[in-house]
Amino acid sequence: MSAAILTLPFGLLLWAADPYERPRERMVAEQIEARGIRHPGVLRAMRSVPRHLFVPESLRSMAYQDTPLPIGHGQTISQPYIVAFMTELLDPRPEHNVLEIGTGSGYQAAVLSPLVKQVFTIEIVPELAQQSAELLKRLGYANVTVRLGDGYLGWPEQAPFDRIMLTAAPADVPKALIDQLKPGGKLVAPVGSSAWDQELVLLEKSADGKIRRRSVLPVRFVPMVPGKSTKKR
Ligand code: SAH
Repeated sequence: MSAAILTLPFGLLLWAADPYERPRERMVAEQIEARGIRHPGVLRAMRSVPRHLFVPESLRSMAYQDTPLPIGHGQTISQPYIVAFMTELLDPRPEHNVLEIGTGSGYQAAVLSPLVKQVFTIEIVPELAQQSAELLKRLGYANVTVRLGDGYLGWPEQAPFDRIMLTAAPADVPKALIDQLKPGGKLVAPVGSSAWDQELVLLEKSADGKIRRRSVLPVRFVPMVPGKSTKKR
């Protein structure tokens, strides 16, 4: 009796604290687990990261729907399933240093954060770099470092990386990024010269430096834009 009386207000209190918990739970069950994502850490991360805080306020009610959403500056936050799929494909481990190209809202970096040692992420649009850095800091994702810059160049000072993920599509995987991948490392990227013709590529560098590449899925990402430093070359 008394337990029931105590439980009810407690449940209500939790609900009041995070009204998005249920939609998020449903998102993971219906969009992610139901489509075959099994990695326990990835599922845990998708359950914990408050996606609604990474989308514009006016779109919060849509944050847990099965769709990408605009985040301003012509950019988008990927569909939840694609984030989970790419994170699982990356095969993240707790000891890994990871480079992400295309911070955008910071959501993908937040999903990676609990799964690895460090996330280094590069964004070319100054406002997005600043906003995502502030949000990630405020939410306590302390192992994520955001840098404003051109992803085509990678992050030589922090290289080599165990894992690299691109969330904007280049026409081909930039050589600098392959060079900054550790032997035994993996890179996941949407690749293609137009929005209509992209595939998700998994590239693996063997211990002796050989590159193996395989296409995994047709995808549609925003194109990776050449930065000033890229154009000069
Ligand atoms: N990972 C993001 C989604 C990013 S959309 C998220 O979870 O929200 C792709 C992002 O790549 C955009 O923010 C875009 O500005 C950025 N981008 C495009 N070209 C880039 C480049 N050359 N270097 C770094 N970032 C780039």
